Amino acid sequence: MKRNRLQAANQICEAGRRLYSRGFAAGNDGNISFRIDEKSVLCTPTLICKGYMTPGYLCTVDLDGNQLSGKRKRTSEIFLHLEVYRGNPNVAAVVHCHPPHATAFAIAHEPIPTGIIPEVEVFLGVVPHAPYETPGGRDFAATIRPFTKSANTVVLSNHGTVSWGPSVERAYWCTEILDAYCRMLILAKLIGGAERLPPKKVRELLALRPAFGMPPDERSTPAELYVNPAYAARKAKRPRRDRRRS
Ligand SMILES: [Zn+2]
Repeated sequence: MKRNRLQAANQICEAGRRLYSRGFAAGNDGNISFRIDEKSVLCTPTLICKGYMTPGYLCTVDLDGNQLSGKRKRTSEIFLHLEVYRGNPNVAAVVHCHPPHATAFAIAHEPIPTGIIPEVEVFLGVVPHAPYETPGGRDFAATIRPFTKSANTVVLSNHGTVSWGPSVERAYWCTEILDAYCRMLILAKLIGGAERLPPKKVRELLALRPAFGMPPDERSTPAELYVNPAYAARKAKRPRRDRRRS
């Protein structure tokens, strides 16, 4: 293995261990890839637990998904990854998995609300939902085509998530931030619901993005700043105290 390929392979295996240990990829779920050069992509094989991979398990494919090397068969979801690489030349790595809290939003068709916590505004921005399509094929991959330049993380309806970035670490990171956020939203809902940040404070967060190497976020009006405001507004009514009780 060439040096940069071995480094990338080690990063993929490490991200696989993290995905599996966090419960983001049950059984053999999930797949990870890294663009080695203009013509080839290193990726995880199909039918293997992502928590126990070593570099020798990985495959390479060309940008049409044809397998170039590797003893094991490439992931069946490679076209999803290739769609990102084709649509956004700045991307070097893609992570796809089924993190339970974010996938809860995917199966409920509940848009990911914005304007609630700083990390999501700065590192994710708007997280779009792609429509459902049967996994594995080119039609499935095409569902994320509209978002490959404007987003870094997408919720796949009734399926899971996909995120990308300039390194395996950064791509994995987006998935972890999203799932932690979705967990917080679900927990907040149990104790009365989330409160939105005021527009001025959300704009201040968007202004921080360049300092963290993130592209500008053009949202400005309240309608743009707050995706799915109804989620935060849906407060459960607190039960009235029964004053007759001693
Ligand atoms: Zn999947």
